[in-house]
Amino acid sequence: METRQGIATKEALDLQSVDQDLVQKMVYDALVWSSLHGLVVGDRSVQRSGKVPGVGLVHAPFALLPVSFPESHFREACELAPIFNELVDRVSLDGKFLQESLSRTKKVDPFTSRLLDIHSKMLELNKKEDIRLGLHRSDYMLDEQTKSLLQIEVNTISSSFSGLSCLVSELHRSLLIHYGERLGLDSKKVPGNSAVIQFAEAMAKAWTEYNNARGGQVIAVVYFRAGYAPTDYPSESEWRARLLMEQSSAVKCPSISYHLAGTKKIQQELAKPNVLERFLDNKEDIAKVRKCFAGLWSLDDSENVSKAIENPELYVMKPQREGGGNNIYGEDVKETLLRLKKDGTDEDAAYILMQRIFPSVSLTFLMRDGICHKDHAISELGIYGAYLRIKEKVIMNEQSGYLMRTKVASSNEGGVAAGFAVLDSLYLT
Ligand code: ADP
Ligand code: MG
Ligand code: MG
Repeated sequence: METRQGIATKEALDLQSVDQDLVQKMVYDALVWSSLHGLVVGDRSVQRSGKVPGVGLVHAPFALLPVSFPESHFREACELAPIFNELVDRVSLDGKFLQESLSRTKKVDPFTSRLLDIHSKMLELNKKEDIRLGLHRSDYMLDEQTKSLLQIEVNTISSSFSGLSCLVSELHRSLLIHYGERLGLDSKKVPGNSAVIQFAEAMAKAWTEYNNARGGQVIAVVYFRAGYAPTDYPSESEWRARLLMEQSSAVKCPSISYHLAGTKKIQQELAKPNVLERFLDNKEDIAKVRKCFAGLWSLDDSENVSKAIENPELYVMKPQREGGGNNIYGEDVKETLLRLKKDGTDEDAAYILMQRIFPSVSLTFLMRDGICHKDHAISELGIYGAYLRIKEKVIMNEQSGYLMRTKVASSNEGGVAAGFAVLDSLYLT
């Protein structure tokens, strides 16, 4: 176990004490519920899965019971959603800031460089996006030692699980309606979650505002469920398609500038003193946002690089990538930093350095492939935000549901799809 604090058993429910028969009943009901309500994903072990609709489905990995989370911190995260929506919008309008902040990264990261090229072309054309649609998810962990809610990152492209997260909340409510009394838990303490409806509503409103009903002829809204990873562009034709979409008058979710505003490098630049002030006017909003920033540094910050070499377990190194599995942890942080120092090239500009956050560890029942495992786990809370704007008029700016992901505490990263994390919901305490 890599956690510093050891094991905290702070959950409202003491899982150790739950009777095995009851667990087996809940497992059975939860699996039936998942199949009936579409809490399912493609089953990789079935060859035709993903090719033939309705073939090869398995329940999504989920936690059997919701994880305890302080209501005050949940509210804090929800309140941040509209502020981050606004911040992404403001940053996206500052083409010079995006280009300059990513200029060193551009030299060493071919993928980010291609995105920046598309962005440059739009700047040259002086292209304006009058209708701007953002479907974001800002992720947080609750740092155990300081009891503070700290942001992991904000996703501005392909923010995932808005559909399944709602179902997991419903599953947990349903289990607590049936078994809550025996567990000493109240189903009403699982907050409502309508992420998928709110995202769909934002997309539909963007279509309405585009106001051209010639369907089949004119494309009004482009939503990217891919396009955030280099592997999504196996040839030049994908890059040409991305450019074509960007040049078009369609509403892009995200536009190239929203995409770039969501990079880790921009997150790190925004955390520098006096940068938020360039984009946000309201002092309280600025203070709220700053409070959730963890330590973030560029690799040309030699003082913090030295500290990270000394105590690598307290840091995470991140390249400009999305989708999980790209970060560097522990001894690898030290090795990579030492190598970059020795090489003396610009390659360091591909990464940012971040304070490692240590959430409290609790016992969880993790369900995967119909099997229930009990393990020590940590959780990450994502808050969805939907934003729609037409020129000066903000049509929609709201918090739009949540996603809880819980992963085995010994795993550094572990996405849901990668097999370490499960979908979860929360139980307000
Ligand atoms: P991605 O865009 O690939 O999802 P993230 O920044 O979210 O990149 O990192 C992936 C995962 O790594 C997170 O879901 C979290 O589990 C872990 N992680 C990222 N940053 C930190 C951090 N500062 N402290 C602890 N864990 C982190
Ligand atoms: Mg991300
Ligand atoms: Mg992430």
